[in-house]
Amino acid sequence: MKTIGLIGGMSWESTAVYYRLINQAVRARLGGLHSAEIVLRSLDFEAVARLQRADRWDEAGALLARAGASLAAAGADCVLICTNTMHLVADTVAAGIDVPLLNVIDETGSALAAAGHRRPLLLATRYTMEHGFYTDRLRAGHGIDALVPEEHDRVAVHGIIFEELCQGVVLDQSRARLMQAIGRGMDAGADSVILGCTELCLLFDADALPCPGLDSTAIHAAAAVNFAFSEVGLRKAA
Ligand code: GLU
Repeated sequence: MKTIGLIGGMSWESTAVYYRLINQAVRARLGGLHSAEIVLRSLDFEAVARLQRADRWDEAGALLARAGASLAAAGADCVLICTNTMHLVADTVAAGIDVPLLNVIDETGSALAAAGHRRPLLLATRYTMEHGFYTDRLRAGHGIDALVPEEHDRVAVHGIIFEELCQGVVLDQSRARLMQAIGRGMDAGADSVILGCTELCLLFDADALPCPGLDSTAIHAAAAVNFAFSEVGLRKAA
C-alpha cells in the first residue's frame, strides 16, 4: 500500500471527511485493524481564504506548492489538494513535486463520463464556478459541458460554503435553498449535479438528490485509495 499525501485544512471540516473515507475504504479492502498510510499537511484556512479574496492566486499557489513538496519529502507517493477551488493552482503544485497530483477535476470528469452524464450543474464556490478553470478542464479533458447556476444562486452557494459549512454549521434552510438552485439547473437542462466543493457533502447526500449527484470529496478520496493499491509509481525496494 502506498502513502497518500493530503494538502488539507481548506477547510478542515472536509479534510476530516477525506480522512474518514480513505481509512474506511482501506479497512473495507484489507479488514481488521488496517488503515491508510497518510501524510497530512493541514493549512490555516484563514490565511488561504485571505489570498483568495484578494485575488492573490500566485501567492496561494506558492503556499500550496510548498505544502505539496513537504508531503513528497515526508514520503507521500501521491498528493491530493483537498479542495476544488484550489485546483486553480493545481499546475503550480504539480510542477513542484516528483509524485503524481491526483486532480479532483479529472477524477470527477472521469466519473461523469463513465456514468454517461454530459451536462452537469456545477455547485461550488464562486471561484470554481466563475474562473473557468474547472469547466474548461472538464470540457477539454472529458468532453463534459458543465452548467453553472445563475448569479443569485452562485452568491447563495458561495455564502453557504464559507459562512456555514467551512465553519461547521449545517442548516436545513440552506439545504432547501440549494435544492432550489438544483431545480433551476435541471430546468435549464442539467442531467446531473457536481458537488464541486468538498464541504457540500456535509449538506447533501449525493445519492438523495432529484438527479444523479457526484460528490467530489468521495470521488477524490476513492481515487486516492485506488492509487494506493495500484502498481503505478510503486517505489523500488532498496
Ligand atoms: N473546500 C471548498 C472547495 O472544495 C472551498 C474552500 C476553498 O475555497 O478552498 O472548493
